[in-house]
Amino acid sequence: MTRNEKGAFARRSFLQAGAAGAAAGLLPTRSRATAGKRAEVKRYVVLGRTGLEISDITFGSSRLRTGEEDLVAYAYDRGVTYFDTAEGYTGGQSESVIGNALLGKRDQVVIASKTSTRPSTTRDEMMSALEGSLRRLRTDYIDVFFNHAVNSVAQMSNPEWHAFAEQAKRQGKIRFTGMSGHAGHLVECLDYAFDEDMVDVVLVAYNFGQDPKFYERLTQSFDFVATQPDLPRVLEKGKRKGVGVVTMKNLMGARLNDMRPFETGGATFAQAAFRWVLSNANVDAVTISMTSHALIDEYLGASGATALVHGDFELLKQYARLNGASYCRHACNDCEGACPYGVPIADVLRTRMYATHYKDLEFARSEYAQLAVNAAACASCSGQPCREACTHDLRIDQLCGPAHSLLA
Ligand code: SF4
Ligand code: SF4
Repeated sequence: MTRNEKGAFARRSFLQAGAAGAAAGLLPTRSRATAGKRAEVKRYVVLGRTGLEISDITFGSSRLRTGEEDLVAYAYDRGVTYFDTAEGYTGGQSESVIGNALLGKRDQVVIASKTSTRPSTTRDEMMSALEGSLRRLRTDYIDVFFNHAVNSVAQMSNPEWHAFAEQAKRQGKIRFTGMSGHAGHLVECLDYAFDEDMVDVVLVAYNFGQDPKFYERLTQSFDFVATQPDLPRVLEKGKRKGVGVVTMKNLMGARLNDMRPFETGGATFAQAAFRWVLSNANVDAVTISMTSHALIDEYLGASGATALVHGDFELLKQYARLNGASYCRHACNDCEGACPYGVPIADVLRTRMYATHYKDLEFARSEYAQLAVNAAACASCSGQPCREACTHDLRIDQLCGPAHSLLA
């Protein structure tokens, strides 16, 4: 099948599924523009029990800023139908830009947004956050509303979250609820949410560096291995329960430029990393921050994949060789408790990654500013308590202090 035939097939499948879904009142019914020679979405998937049909590569917007409506429109024209945002992304700019760009297209897209909660957050505070998101997004409902960046079970078990979710659903302001997570206690929080049947969708950090069985194959000659053995298990559990699974942080730090010299076979590292994630049948779709037309085209080049292709393994291996020793796996959280001053090491290193890997200092600083405790204590610490606390051999003591200087 040629590329154009595949595109036509995908469009037919989408329209057929769209017609069925429209009858059920669950699916977007848009007729997508053709894409000429540029990449386009080739596969649409059903997002678990929500019944929502979404593109397998979705629009992440954590770095979307005022004036960038063209990025949203470009992705939409390429067939992207799921747009992920949050109240906290770029101080609300991200939601506003998506709202502007998708005005008049609301019934043809799925919009997901999030609010950050603490165990003590009240229903009224959550409702007020939702109202703000609705205003910025210029819509009267959000398809999937996430409890954002959950890193403790107490955030999910807060009865106010459930009272809020029920009320917002009853009022038609949200259709489905979810949990997003990329830091400590991720597996524990997912297990809890699945066992208690609390979520329709999860958004989780997941990449080839987090599956120990696969990562060990890449790093046989290295002296470090991933320790996230339960993440594949818990994703499978989510699938069994009918929960929609979307992944983020798929690129293990996204040092794309490091990999350009090695991308000689027509495929790119990013595409290989997406194919790896999408080859897991327990994952429905990936979300990725789309920051330029060229990157959107590159990312959509992996749409339709359900397996690695020739050359992918070597690209992933090369990436692991270059970056494995400096990439914090965030959710592994093996270093929790190592710092006597309470520095949240995984969160500090995640925000550092936005600056050093994503090259987005403004975003990194805004995320760092939201941490309840930062790494200021590192300035007067010997570094001895955390020096050997990382099970991936990262020198935490050499990373957290400079991260504070960079981001505070
Ligand atoms: S260097 Fe920083 S993170 Fe490490 S123990 Fe000291 S204060 Fe904690
Ligand atoms: S610093 Fe090391 S132990 Fe701590 S979360 Fe990151 S990878 Fe895991």
